[in-house]
Amino acid sequence: MFYLEVAHLAKSFGDTPVFSDISFDIRQGEFITLLGPSGCGKSTLLRSLAGLVPPDTGQIRVAGEDITWLKPQQRGIGMVFQSYALFPNLTVAGNIAFGLRMQKLDKGEIARRVAEAVELVGLTGREHHHPARLSGGQRQRVALARALVVRPRILLLDEPLSALDAPIRKRLREQIRAIQQQLGLTTVFVTHDQEEALTLSDRIFVMNQGSIVQADTAEAVYTRPASDFVAGFMGSYNLLSPEQARALLGLEIDGKLAIRPESIYLREPGRDYGPAMTAPIPARIAQHQLLGNVVRYRVQTAGGELMVDRLNRGARTLLPAGRQVELLFDTAELNEVA
Ligand code: ADP
Ligand code: MG
Repeated sequence: MFYLEVAHLAKSFGDTPVFSDISFDIRQGEFITLLGPSGCGKSTLLRSLAGLVPPDTGQIRVAGEDITWLKPQQRGIGMVFQSYALFPNLTVAGNIAFGLRMQKLDKGEIARRVAEAVELVGLTGREHHHPARLSGGQRQRVALARALVVRPRILLLDEPLSALDAPIRKRLREQIRAIQQQLGLTTVFVTHDQEEALTLSDRIFVMNQGSIVQADTAEAVYTRPASDFVAGFMGSYNLLSPEQARALLGLEIDGKLAIRPESIYLREPGRDYGPAMTAPIPARIAQHQLLGNVVRYRVQTAGGELMVDRLNRGARTLLPAGRQVELLFDTAELNEVA
């Protein structure tokens, strides 16, 4: 049923545990993202899957086979790192062919497979260039081709886009997703960037301090955070204390109330902007920030200052500081979190 199964994996460096009990299962062809802040253990987890870091205890199985103690090259796992780790003295083709030469495949087969991988990552015409002549995005595509050319059972990517400029990062992440889907390749992608995780993944595993704290679809992790940590990490959630929730909405809760800025309806009194879920609640604009296609308002309410997002429909619709407004809350989008 599951293709990659990880059970009770633990790893410490000296006396310092990185994780002490990690378990998860991934289906064949799934694209999973490990998302979490720097230092939470993402790379260590990925490297133990690849066989580069031996776990202390626990088990890793691929297609039912226990691979926990196999050498990296015996696992059928490909890995791409943030720092491309290319051989500077080899050409694009030479870098990509390296793993196949190690496997002692015959020349014709190597040439065929390299050409296929070069085409897959869109580097046709650059086979004879050296890494120094390539852009960062092109180098990372060489690293990707090198990982794919050996036809891995599983592809692991550790922050492969972090060193690239924003436009290239977006383009390459779309290419990675397209290639992964084309090949039906089971993939684990590591990032600390929530937007990257949301746009790429079938499921997101949110990590904090060596634990997977929520594992779910992108939509569920974004709209139904399991804890205040996930809410804080995933989006710009408003987090309200029980007192604030009572003052604002008359709600009695034990944990915290997490509300996304774009799930609050903001309207000028007397004008109808759409479906109202709660009665209008008076508020006052404190300031705004332009996020591009969205305007984020900071709004004063009885429950403290909230972030509220509205589509940026034009300069004329911008609300100045001090303006009295009303807020309407979609009761289905009020999340009580621990
Ligand atoms: P992430 O990839 O989420 O940023 P890492 O897995 O790299 O996190 O690191 C998790 C923790 O393990 C950090 O506190 C880091 O300092 C520590 N760590 C990672 N690798 C080693 C190592 N080889 N020796 C000692 N400590 C390490
Ligand atoms: Mg890391």
